[in-house]
Amino acid sequence: MNSFADELSRRLDALREQNLFRERRRVDSPQGTRIKIGGKTFLNFSSNDYLGLANHPALKAAASQAVEKFGAGAGASRLICGSLAPFHELEETLAAFKKTEAALTFSTGYAAALGTITALCNKDSIIILDKLVHACIVDAAKLSGAKLRVFAHNDLEDLEAKLNWAANQKKRALIITESIFSMDGDTAPLREIVALKEKYGAWLMVDEAHATGILGQNGRGLADELGVSEKIEIQMGTLGKALGASGGYICGTRALIDLLINGARSFIFSTAPVPAAAAAAKAGIEIAQSAEGEQLRRQLRQRIGQFKSEIKNQDSKILTAIIPLILGDEVKAITAAQRLREQNIFVPAIRFPTVARGAARLRVTLTAAHTAEDVSELCRALKTLDR
Ligand SMILES: *Cc1c(COP(=O)(O)O)cnc(C)c1O
Repeated sequence: MNSFADELSRRLDALREQNLFRERRRVDSPQGTRIKIGGKTFLNFSSNDYLGLANHPALKAAASQAVEKFGAGAGASRLICGSLAPFHELEETLAAFKKTEAALTFSTGYAAALGTITALCNKDSIIILDKLVHACIVDAAKLSGAKLRVFAHNDLEDLEAKLNWAANQKKRALIITESIFSMDGDTAPLREIVALKEKYGAWLMVDEAHATGILGQNGRGLADELGVSEKIEIQMGTLGKALGASGGYICGTRALIDLLINGARSFIFSTAPVPAAAAAAKAGIEIAQSAEGEQLRRQLRQRIGQFKSEIKNQDSKILTAIIPLILGDEVKAITAAQRLREQNIFVPAIRFPTVARGAARLRVTLTAAHTAEDVSELCRALKTLDR
């Protein structure tokens, strides 16, 4: 009798049958426009390292210096063994970058969402989510015990209907959305959402994971670009995408940050990240705000424009560096990714549960580090796929 093994192999077989089985591909190089897998070099259009900072000399130097000065590990939770200086320097830099009173960093963006939403909401709360928000927000909202309502993606009328419903319950609602959506690359109508949340006295949390470093002045984000940062109670993001390092953050008022230090369980009950990650993230934010950052954003916009004009694909609206090429069927997406790998191009096939069943896609991400020739090579390869 081996029922555990039998059950696992039954479940794995089911995933394989539905073409949903996933595996890790070992990479033997840093992240960049070229990555090495199985001895072969691929042109990489899969990472969220939009400014090419993950392997930038300034971030590597900052990380090395932090290792020299503060060591490899953090010892314990920041409330137990003291809170290492690099985290404080990072949080001061973040608050100044986002123009908020204060900031708190977490080991990941996932942990930031989990800790923050569960600290702010309980069974007496209502949370209203955009249909396409990231899994960490969905998980956090469920864990909080709050009543959940989901509005159709970017649909203001549906959002207002949910706000109306919440007002009838005589409960405050927390609206949560993203700024650039991670698998679709479109943006949220934040001005209109802010107007609605003010009308109904709701709170608003915006996850800027894919817009921080990219949009707005100095890469401050979409909320800054649309002039509504100050109206958003909870600004969230990750340090692991355009900022090139690792970790999650919340920016807001001093009171919000104090409440999270006292109530966010993923902050309190978890060992602090390595100090090198904090130092690298701080260096990433400094580059985002510099003339170099501006130049990198200009290069990224040029690559997006070039892709748009070379691909001439009617069914994909190209708005940001995230370009979904929707294929629908899971097998089609896997096959297309395989065909591209045969041409030494690495683009991930995105399937359920990352996106809805039957909405499988290739997710192309462009970065400032790609050359014009890299983008042309991708476009030529995409045209060889029969879609
Ligand atoms: C990647 C991502 C996160 C999680 O951030 P990590 O730092 O990778 O844990 C949260 N929200 C969105 C929208 C993301 O794309």
